[in-house]
Amino acid sequence: MSAQRADWQKFWEQQLDEIEAAGARRRLNQFAREKKSTGQMKNADRCLINFGSNDYLNLASHPAIIETIQNGVSEFGWGSGASPLVTGRSAAHARLEESLAEFERTEAALLFSTGYSANVAAVVTLMERGDGIFSDQLNHASLIDGCRLSRAEICRYRHVDTADLAEQLASHRSRFKRAIVLTDSLFSMDGDLAPLREICDLADRFDCLVVVDEAHATGVYGDRGEGWCHEIGCSDRVLVRTGTLSKSLGGLGGFLVGPRALIDLAVHRGRGYMFSTSMPIAMALAAHTALDLLREMKSERVALRHTGRDLREQLRGEGWNVGGIDSPIIPVYIGDPKRTVDYSTQLLAKGCFVPAIRPPTVPHGQSLLRISLSTAHRRDHIEQLLKSFDEIRQQNFLSLEESRSSHERFA
Ligand code: PMP
Repeated sequence: MSAQRADWQKFWEQQLDEIEAAGARRRLNQFAREKKSTGQMKNADRCLINFGSNDYLNLASHPAIIETIQNGVSEFGWGSGASPLVTGRSAAHARLEESLAEFERTEAALLFSTGYSANVAAVVTLMERGDGIFSDQLNHASLIDGCRLSRAEICRYRHVDTADLAEQLASHRSRFKRAIVLTDSLFSMDGDLAPLREICDLADRFDCLVVVDEAHATGVYGDRGEGWCHEIGCSDRVLVRTGTLSKSLGGLGGFLVGPRALIDLAVHRGRGYMFSTSMPIAMALAAHTALDLLREMKSERVALRHTGRDLREQLRGEGWNVGGIDSPIIPVYIGDPKRTVDYSTQLLAKGCFVPAIRPPTVPHGQSLLRISLSTAHRRDHIEQLLKSFDEIRQQNFLSLEESRSSHERFA
């Protein structure tokens, strides 16, 4: 090995050692989701109940969607072949955009290959140097990356804390010509919801645009699954929204919805749109079928939220420190990253996959076990999970009090 290459090698290994020492080392794993055994998956030939997926409505394996994608691939082939401004946008992409705009009741929509790039594009289109972004402290990484790339000034407010947002707006809003308040609606790790009515009131008072990422809320809230903004009657006040096709819709891709002029501008400013290959035609067709199904899944939405409320209560009753409200995302706060991984490993040994979420995904001291529910979960799946949590508490000699105080929020 050359001296220069050896230096690089040493540098990379040192960095990994530091990550390991902080309890944040990630190791790649392999899982096999099979369409016949929903709610479960295989890992090294073991069958596990899958509490680590965002496929809330179990659409990833829906027969009608599978048929659409199979027919689509047979007719149109595998790849789209180019970015949308070259030759990668087909009638199927255009039709999906129209349907998304109609679904969200906005003027227009723009499709992206991922929700990540939709979020980056949204912020970069709206904001530039000299502008101000009032951003929830726990916003998703893709929004944060969009903020950084936009070069606007970022004022982070405490998570879902409208009093802090009001203070920040009062102190800083006047420095910027244009400003937005930027937030997830359903927070992906804490399973809690943005107080959008209050945020919209503040935004009106301080002349800001509200921009909301509905990634986890689409399909779960709203009469037809349109999301949290619709459920609480704020969709007319939140002009710009983003979403993803990768969670309740069960596939892959992202979207931005809003006024026509903004969407037209995003084509020019959202570099993830202009410089990235569009999704395959078969996927656009499949997303369309998924959207049609999702609108009609009212009873599934009700059942999912009901299971979430029940499970939350039962885990709390057992003494675990459980966060969030009325959502299929149930965080069990542990605090210490190594302990969180240890509990996740113990749950795995009992047949339940519940991911350990650690920094940088969550702030330091706030590591958690993230249970995500799907309509694919059966009653016996939930019972096995509850039993496993209880055994872990007993095996680790955790008292009720200890498990409750294992996580100090914002410590
Ligand atoms: N927003 C939020 C809140 C997310 O949790 C995620 C993905 N985990 C994204 C956006 C990005 O979506 P995608 O996975 O479709 O890129």
